Amino acid sequence: MNRSDAERLASVLELLGLKETKDETEADLLIAVACSVRLSATNRVFGTGRNWQKIKKPEAKTLLTGCVLKEDKKKLKKYFDEIFSITDMGKVLPKIVTGKKQLDVSSVFSGQYLEYLPNYSSDFKAYIPIMTGCDNFCSYCAVPYTRGREKSRPQKDIEQEVRALVRKGYLEIVLLGQNVNSYKPNFTKLIKNLDKIAGEHRIYFYSNHPKDVSPELIATLPNLKHFPNYLHLPLQSGNDAILRSMNRHYTQQDYLNLVKKIKTEILNVTLTTDIIVGYPGETEKQFQDTAQVMKKVGFDMAFIAKYSERPGTLSARCPDNVSEAEKKSREKILQEILADSSYAHNTKIVGTIQRVLIDSQKKDKYYGRTDSYKVVEINNNQKLKIGQFIKAKIIKAEKWKLIASLVS
Ligand code: SAH
Ligand code: SF4
Repeated sequence: MNRSDAERLASVLELLGLKETKDETEADLLIAVACSVRLSATNRVFGTGRNWQKIKKPEAKTLLTGCVLKEDKKKLKKYFDEIFSITDMGKVLPKIVTGKKQLDVSSVFSGQYLEYLPNYSSDFKAYIPIMTGCDNFCSYCAVPYTRGREKSRPQKDIEQEVRALVRKGYLEIVLLGQNVNSYKPNFTKLIKNLDKIAGEHRIYFYSNHPKDVSPELIATLPNLKHFPNYLHLPLQSGNDAILRSMNRHYTQQDYLNLVKKIKTEILNVTLTTDIIVGYPGETEKQFQDTAQVMKKVGFDMAFIAKYSERPGTLSARCPDNVSEAEKKSREKILQEILADSSYAHNTKIVGTIQRVLIDSQKKDKYYGRTDSYKVVEINNNQKLKIGQFIKAKIIKAEKWKLIASLVS
């Protein structure tokens, strides 16, 4: 989401006549896009602000946007000339850049900020926000406070953006939103329509809320041509009392039933998740429920986070009472369970031929991802082009990646 916001900021700045520089010491304008999901992310925003004050040109302006909690705003004002809501970028940026208080931007910018077309930072992979904000108020989460309520982008705008990207030769598109399944009026209808756009490309969507994954979506996904069988299904915790306290609106059993239905209807589905360890009051026994669910489901990948108290959220009213050492140890246990399930999934596709989108290179090794989103390392003497699909034969499985050779 932040990368996509940064791309949209860049395109507005370019329209205003500014040029991008990679060198922070020579920039006239520095903008940080903040994340407040965890304390470590907030700390990075403070670090960036402090550092810019030291290294920037004296006359350079520093701005902050993205997700900033009210509680942090006051303290951050020391380091940034202005903190603005991302939805106001069409108003704020022209004012800062041209020095004029009022500037009629209606000819260039109209409506909400998602309508500004971004400067995509890659020429084969693009992130497209389809909705912003969140109405769910999970007790630990800063997003509803920093991003506001859910707002969906019109379907025809999204279709236009995807169509334009495909025409330009983009091969991977990720539809973004805090909870894409609650896209209005209808998420399944949106992806069915997007699927009709012809091309070689593949499309992913991220993130989902288990309570909003509809039977209709599960029935539709395997029949789509451009959408791989991939679902991100954030579990957060496998314990019912913790889930209730988190305000997640599902139980362990609901989650397991959903996974069972998904695995039955979507063949070889890739399932990934988000977990929080050390939520306030999480006992060893409650943590074990999460470990058990992880073992039962066997995720392909997971983002395991240590609980981090976010000021202003509901759970910040409860003491953050699981020690850092305990959080670390729980995180490690889950990482090991994940390594086992990831390795098991990787082993299953050894010997198969997979389509891989090459996205990077280190020395003579190339890296990319299969349609099932597994990392592949290709040992190859030939030069490969970054940003192209190739066929690769999987020759070996490791925990976090597959080793493959090029199929000519
Ligand atoms: N809308 C998405 C999540 C967005 S935040 C969803 O419902 O899954 C991304 C992830 O950050 C969350 O899934 C959660 O695992 C983690 N996260 C959010 N708030 C957190 C907090 N206070 N401490 C630790 N991890 C947190
Ligand atoms: Fe945060 Fe996701 Fe819950 Fe919304 S659904 S409150 S973004 S964790």
